[in-house]
Amino acid sequence: MKLLAVGTVAFDAIETPFGKTDKILGGAATYIGLAASALEAEVGLVSVIGGDFPQGYLDMLTSKNINIDGVEIIKEGKTFFWSGKYHNDLNSRDTLVTELNVLENFNPKIPASFADADVLMLGNLHPAVQLAVLERMSQRPKMVILDTMNFWMDLTWDLLMEVIAKTDVITINDEEARQLSGEYSLVKAAQKIHTLGPKFVIIKKGEHGALLFHEGKIFAIPALPLEEVFDPTGAGDTFAGGLAAYITKTGDFSFDNLKNALIVGSAMASFTVEKFGTVRLEDVTKEELKGRINQFRELTTFELTM
Ligand code: AMP
Repeated sequence: MKLLAVGTVAFDAIETPFGKTDKILGGAATYIGLAASALEAEVGLVSVIGGDFPQGYLDMLTSKNINIDGVEIIKEGKTFFWSGKYHNDLNSRDTLVTELNVLENFNPKIPASFADADVLMLGNLHPAVQLAVLERMSQRPKMVILDTMNFWMDLTWDLLMEVIAKTDVITINDEEARQLSGEYSLVKAAQKIHTLGPKFVIIKKGEHGALLFHEGKIFAIPALPLEEVFDPTGAGDTFAGGLAAYITKTGDFSFDNLKNALIVGSAMASFTVEKFGTVRLEDVTKEELKGRINQFRELTTFELTM
């Protein structure tokens, strides 16, 4: 089973109550690829970068068996740049800068070896690009997962509706689910979003976990209560990448398996937030991941009989 992910490979500059970074490696596709690599899933990325992107970052991705044949380099262009500042509670942030740069005219190319990927992760990106990738696959993937954000709801509503109609799973945060549906209750929001297309609706609630909705059923998980959250950037993408990679590895597209995928995605995201950027995710071991999944089990199992 193969996973293809499209998204940004970016420079990020981040400010949290604990510190500030210059331009560091970021981007939705980067986090998705690293999460998939930690699960040893066969993963390829589709993205675009400028001539200013360090070869060292590309080498790091390749060394983790992430296929970057679909990452185009525009030598005379500049890489996508995003800058954000977190509030004291780390649950909300302000975007300070979004420079699309080479993304502005991005024409995604699918590497031949991934055109028949079983799972397609449409990472947070312009919905026209997400649509183009879906249309350029040699066959419809068994599962299409979409991540998006308020930025695209504000700017490209109609195109976003078009791509949402073609996806099986959507992952968005609670605020975005409310914006997308016009409903305050997340249960009602999920019901509305189902009518737009996706059979599975996943609503991320930051440090409060995530909800999975499917055919009238709901599954809820907490986020691991962590002693230290340093930088939440990329947590959503890591969650989506871990989830997509787990589905790819198991080849099981059922509701029950998506529950497991939610746990894996969440466990993976718990590493990302421990350090700035991708640093922590880059060296997650299988044993560490197993440990976090066990912590989840302990956190949520009880033996009450009434
Ligand atoms: P997350 O914290 O999971 O929501 O994602 C953070 C990542 O999203 C950062 O590494 C950014 O480079 C990337 N990002 C921020 N804004 C956008 C955007 N408008 N489109 C695509 N990617 C973005």
